[in-house]
Amino acid sequence: MKTVSIRDSDLSGKRVFMRVDFNVPLAPGGQEITSDKRIRASLPSIQYALDHGAALILASHLGRPKGKPNPEMSLKPVAARLAELLERPVAMAPDCVGPRVEAMLPKPGEVLLLENLRFHAEEEKNDPAFSKQLAKLCDVYVNDAFGSAHRAHASTVGMIAYVKQAAAGLLMDKEIEYLTKATKNPARPCVAILGGAKVSDKIEVIQNLMKVVDRLMVGGAMAYTFLRARGEFTGKSLVEEDKIDLARELMQSAGDKLMLPVDHVVAAELKPGVETKVVDKIPDGMMALDIGPKTTEAYAKAIAGAKTIIWNGPMGVFETPPFDRGTVALAKAVADSGAVSVVGGGDSEKAIKSAGVADKISHISTGGGASLEFLGGIELPGVKALER
Ligand code: AMP
Repeated sequence: MKTVSIRDSDLSGKRVFMRVDFNVPLAPGGQEITSDKRIRASLPSIQYALDHGAALILASHLGRPKGKPNPEMSLKPVAARLAELLERPVAMAPDCVGPRVEAMLPKPGEVLLLENLRFHAEEEKNDPAFSKQLAKLCDVYVNDAFGSAHRAHASTVGMIAYVKQAAAGLLMDKEIEYLTKATKNPARPCVAILGGAKVSDKIEVIQNLMKVVDRLMVGGAMAYTFLRARGEFTGKSLVEEDKIDLARELMQSAGDKLMLPVDHVVAAELKPGVETKVVDKIPDGMMALDIGPKTTEAYAKAIAGAKTIIWNGPMGVFETPPFDRGTVALAKAVADSGAVSVVGGGDSEKAIKSAGVADKISHISTGGGASLEFLGGIELPGVKALER
């Protein structure tokens, strides 16, 4: 089923409640925003709504206040930053529901930012009475918070039952479009690159992508649990001992679609400047911290021939050079491939930025947990609720 888009909705003169993801990182004390990336990501939908005559109410969670007001997790600094970016006033509500908010409702062209939804425990409980209070504020509901779409909360799911019109924002639309196309109907060959720390975090993703893709390339620490399952010696490399049997089962069902590292960059310990070696077999006392050049070349070759690429997770400890080389080389290969590329997860995004190729990636997902669940074939409640 298709979700309704903000583009198909009449917003003129309407009070629009837009659920956005303003869960920005704050410096200790909660006054200073250390990255406004999430605010900027919401700007196209916010601008679209204002350009189409909406009176705009914005709502988000921030941090984990556990159902109680907490001045260190207030959205006030976000209101100030948003006003600068929009070059128009953004009123800040003292709460997200109740008479004090209802007395401040915006007129067309005006913007009101509600206070942190999670100051009320009812938000995460998806409480019907709280959902009704939120719904009462608006004529049209728009969800642009893809990063929260895997949670069934009052503002992402509950309130939709009580509004006349509900639609996906531009960012949500783009996320759904790219992730759906890549996982349901990809141009082929379709390849996936999966890395990161643990097999256990990505079991559903591996199982689901195995059904979809033509090649599944595994790197990062999770590769070593697979290599152990194949009976290889992995030295001091990170291995999830209790997931070896599972890795063996996954390997058997993937057959020759699965590609594992054939060489490794190893060191005796993980620290910058440590002596490194490239090896085919991991020696005793050493840990594998990146894929080696032969693996990089084989993966880059598969990437170069692909029409669709799905990537989640780094190929090594990319935060600590020189163990970033494999990840950065693959980022460049993805960028040069000309394929439709969909990248999820904060680490892969950082690798793409440090390789300087972000503008050559078709879609960088804004939702870590949500995009992993989507790739795992799990229906996101916040997306399902927008289907009509
Ligand atoms: P994830 O959050 O599951 O995507 O995992 C990302 C983390 O995996 C990063 O912090 C990497 O440093 C770590 N990682 C990747 N490869 C390795 C490796 N070979 N050994 C240890 N940690 C790794």
